Amino acid sequence: MNTKLQNKLFEKYPEIFIQKDWTIQQSCMPWGICCGDGWYNLIDNLCYFITQHCKNNPEIIDKDLDDKLHKEWSIALKDKNQILADEIYDKIKANTEVVIPNATQVKEKFGGLCFYNNAGSEYIRGAIDLVEFMSCSVCENCGSTDNVKQTKGWIVTLCPKCMKKYNNPENHNIFKRLWYSIRFKLWVLKQKYKNAKKKKEK
Ligand SMILES: [Zn+2]
Repeated sequence: MNTKLQNKLFEKYPEIFIQKDWTIQQSCMPWGICCGDGWYNLIDNLCYFITQHCKNNPEIIDKDLDDKLHKEWSIALKDKNQILADEIYDKIKANTEVVIPNATQVKEKFGGLCFYNNAGSEYIRGAIDLVEFMSCSVCENCGSTDNVKQTKGWIVTLCPKCMKKYNNPENHNIFKRLWYSIRFKLWVLKQKYKNAKKKKEK
């Protein structure tokens, strides 16, 4: 994905893409989002959905305290003591935290989008499965959904227009792949240099 679009996603969803600043020994996310620009909207919508779902369903920090507060809350409601009920409700809310899972790797694999994340509920896993499935009918290059087809062998998911470009040897993205691999190798060297520098400073 081009850097501009990738950075847009990183800025919009800092919690999800927090691992982009980790080292390659710790996460695959420093490699960036390794797929075409056409899947930007799919990833954008998925990240928005995950963030909203986590915000609307915060996790309980202390389960025993939550049980106790809920009991007190229902008693206060039964007694029609609204002020106390509101106070307890605030405590119930304070005993929760929003936990947003991190993406550990986002890439194209066998012509489809792969979105790996740590933790995350079954609900989130289901959303990811759906978006990954949908990616197989969205052109990876331009995002079109018109007459999108997958090739055999080295699988790519493209619309007829992009497929034509892809099959044209003059535009063959072997150069693009070569450029990506050079860029990646340079990046690995930079990371190694950075780590060595850090060690020296210590
Ligand atoms: Zn296309």
